Amino acid sequence: MPPCRRLLEAAALGRRVAGLDQAGRRDLLDLFAKSAGDWLDGWFESDPIKALFGFDSVVGNYASPYTPGSAYVLLHHVFGEVNGKRGAWGHALGGMGAITQAMARACAEQGVEIRLETPVAQVLTEKGRAVGAVTERGEVVRARAVVSNLHPRLLFERLVDPAIVPTDFGERIRRYASGSGTFRMNLALSELPRFACLPEPGDHLTAGIIIAPSLGYMDRAHAQARLSGWSSEPIVEMLIPSTLDDSLAPPGRHVASLFCQHVAPQLPDGESWNAHRDTVADLMIETVDRYAPGFRASVLGRLALAPSDLEERFGLIGGDIFHGRLTLDQLFSARPVLGHADYRMPVPGLYLCGSGAHPGGGVTGAPGHNAARSVLTDLQPRRFGLRSRQA
Ligand SMILES: Cc1cc2nc3c(=O)[nH]c(=O)nc-3n(C[C@H](O)[C@H](O)[C@H](O)COP(=O)(O)OP(=O)(O)OC[C@H]3O[C@@H](n4cnc5c(N)ncnc54)[C@H](O)[C@@H]3O)c2cc1C
Repeated sequence: MPPCRRLLEAAALGRRVAGLDQAGRRDLLDLFAKSAGDWLDGWFESDPIKALFGFDSVVGNYASPYTPGSAYVLLHHVFGEVNGKRGAWGHALGGMGAITQAMARACAEQGVEIRLETPVAQVLTEKGRAVGAVTERGEVVRARAVVSNLHPRLLFERLVDPAIVPTDFGERIRRYASGSGTFRMNLALSELPRFACLPEPGDHLTAGIIIAPSLGYMDRAHAQARLSGWSSEPIVEMLIPSTLDDSLAPPGRHVASLFCQHVAPQLPDGESWNAHRDTVADLMIETVDRYAPGFRASVLGRLALAPSDLEERFGLIGGDIFHGRLTLDQLFSARPVLGHADYRMPVPGLYLCGSGAHPGGGVTGAPGHNAARSVLTDLQPRRFGLRSRQA
């Protein structure tokens, strides 16, 4: 992007901040600089309420809720909207695959060809420019633009010829921090859990059920995970989507996910997650059982994914669910690297459109939407040498 364009965009953003009243500016500063814990302690007295909000500051963020910058992660989780409700999260009926299926149908209507089970081995470059992709089977697909939603480290460390990547950019991608401390389980259940505090079925089973009673509990979970790989009192969020969608399980049965935060992306002393996956999976189920007696016995089947599994299966380096940490040095104009937040990578013709691009992870469609605008702008014939503004 030309420097004058950058200046104009910075000025436009500055004007929006200047448009806030003084209280608004102070809130903005707090949200960017403070920890979620300090911020929530200033607003609430109740531990469960603070924990409920505080959980969003540690989801996908391997940090204590008292780590500076975690207030931003809390904000990140309430950016969006579902069915017109701001800050809300939704279930996709039919499971998460329903979203990609809907995207595939929309693509088909536009005449797009989608190839599955076709891993890309290399971004094809000629004279320093990306001109296509080479699949693992050796097929060459040429293109005017190459647009990737891979984790940025995966893209640049495995698929792009390092000789054409500027040295400083390549170094920074190598140091790009990635590892959200997530342990994920999918469960088949014979019956709904009965929580000691509210045993009968009800609306509470249709929402995110967070097992982490206070910010202090989360702080300790993080400290213990850093020391020994995981906490004996872990943070678990349980979702039971079959309470809202009866297509997911046979009548009377249920499926649940355990979204467990704060396990170490890399275990101390280089130990392998393979040796500990089952122990930690048992611990997560025991943790739920402590609050919902009988839960352990209701588990008919389970899939446990440690950080190393998330990396191997889905290309999430360090098991990072967001393709890289949501820390201020890796956000906004610095995502993935300062100077390339406009989705244009330093190899002409190559674009980044996934969670490693601004504004980061989550099923929002935002990085893809913005990246598409960059691509369309670049493919249009230039007028007066200017490009149109990003969303
Ligand atoms: C356990 C977990 C729970 C989550 N929970 C939520 C949630 O509740 N809400 C939410 O909004 N977000 C959630 N997220 C985050 C969300 O899923 C991601 O931010 C989002 O899927 C990112 O989309 P993406 O297109 O950027 O990348 P991805 O979905 O990671 O897609 C990248 C794709 O590239 C493929 N790939 C890798 N290498 C190659 C290659 N060489 N050739 C071809 N293909 C390749 C990968 O297999 C993958 O399918 C969660 C993520 C995880 C892991």
